[in-house]
Amino acid sequence: MSANCIFCKIIKKEIPAEIIFEDENVLAFKDLNPQAPFHFLVIPKQHLETVNDLQTNSEIGGKVISTAAKIAEKFGFSESGYRTIFNCNKDGGQEVFHLHLHLLGGRKLNWPPG
Ligand code: AMP
Ligand code: ZN
Repeated sequence: MSANCIFCKIIKKEIPAEIIFEDENVLAFKDLNPQAPFHFLVIPKQHLETVNDLQTNSEIGGKVISTAAKIAEKFGFSESGYRTIFNCNKDGGQEVFHLHLHLLGGRKLNWPPG
């Protein structure tokens, strides 16, 4: 846990979020500023900052990704399709430095991203 981290505060239930899945390793909740009909964030409970940290934490990375795939199935857009994104650092547009996987679905998503 990191004291000033907003996502750690969500994990500790110190600030509210619309949580859609939780187990001992990961938490998933609705993005506050959704960019698609379904826009969820899947985070590890362990405070890792960026996807760079998955070089030495591959197991938790796998859990985050498999959770996203299960959520897509549960919400009914695994067949129609979806997108999973890790923004990393400045050029990747990362704003919150607690590792999170964006899960976007429910509309046709454009490519390439901006
Ligand atoms: P990123 O730019 O990849 O760091 O994305 C951070 C994401 O976190 C953005 O999509 C925000 O809308 C989202 N976000 C920030 N604060 C909260 C919050 N308190 N609850 C839910 N989502 C949040
Ligand atoms: Zn954190």
